[in-house]
Amino acid sequence: MNNVDAQELAKFSELAHRWWDPESEFRPLHQINPLRLDWLDGLAGLAGKRVVDVGCGGGILAEAMARRATGVTGIDLAARPLGVARLHALEAGVSNIEYREIAAEALATESPAGYDVVTCMEMLEHVPDPASTVRACAAMVKPGGWVFFSTLNRNPKSFLFAIVGAEYVLKLLPKGTHEFARFIRPSELARYAREAGLEMQGMKGMEYNPFTRRYWLSGNTSVNYLVACRKPA
Ligand code: SAH
Repeated sequence: MNNVDAQELAKFSELAHRWWDPESEFRPLHQINPLRLDWLDGLAGLAGKRVVDVGCGGGILAEAMARRATGVTGIDLAARPLGVARLHALEAGVSNIEYREIAAEALATESPAGYDVVTCMEMLEHVPDPASTVRACAAMVKPGGWVFFSTLNRNPKSFLFAIVGAEYVLKLLPKGTHEFARFIRPSELARYAREAGLEMQGMKGMEYNPFTRRYWLSGNTSVNYLVACRKPA
């Protein structure tokens, strides 16, 4: 199993203790969380479902989903964020969640078609072989189930907004958080999904206004975007 970049994991492990501080480097994840949660819940209906969150980090999305679903498994390969996630769930009294240090590809082999819903947010742009992760997500979902991805588009505007703007001008994220070459065009993600046997159901853009410091979902997928897919029943 080598679809992993140790330097990427180290970046997230180093910051792990600040994961749940809404004014930290993770502020953007806290701010976008209600948006993505309501969007995916509206499509997939989390109530009564078993969910796996791939690249869950400190558990911002996983824990929020657990409050609406039957159970959530959060997986990541960075040990410290997982430790933070476990502790936070314990303190929050959310008990229908488990966190595991296991690769998506390994869980797909262990639990094929094991979940109703698979989420993989802000993670694909950190792995060497995103198509392999997409295949693993597709393998983990039951027929008729939903798979959600979010990542960063690759074009001059996304370089300007997601790297120059977010890391250097607005300092929303630490410098070096993202590597432009790893950004993924929607057409590429759509191809990975199709080749993995998933059907695209919809796509949303996520926009940010630095003056109001607010995010919202829109039809503009030029920088941040989310994709909803389904495995045919
Ligand atoms: N999905 C979460 C966290 C995003 S941060 C959210 O949106 O709130 C990116 C996460 O991907 C980090 O926790 C990092 O450790 C994880 N990650 C990076 N490479 C990975 C890999 N190869 N396998 C599993 N997780 C990985």
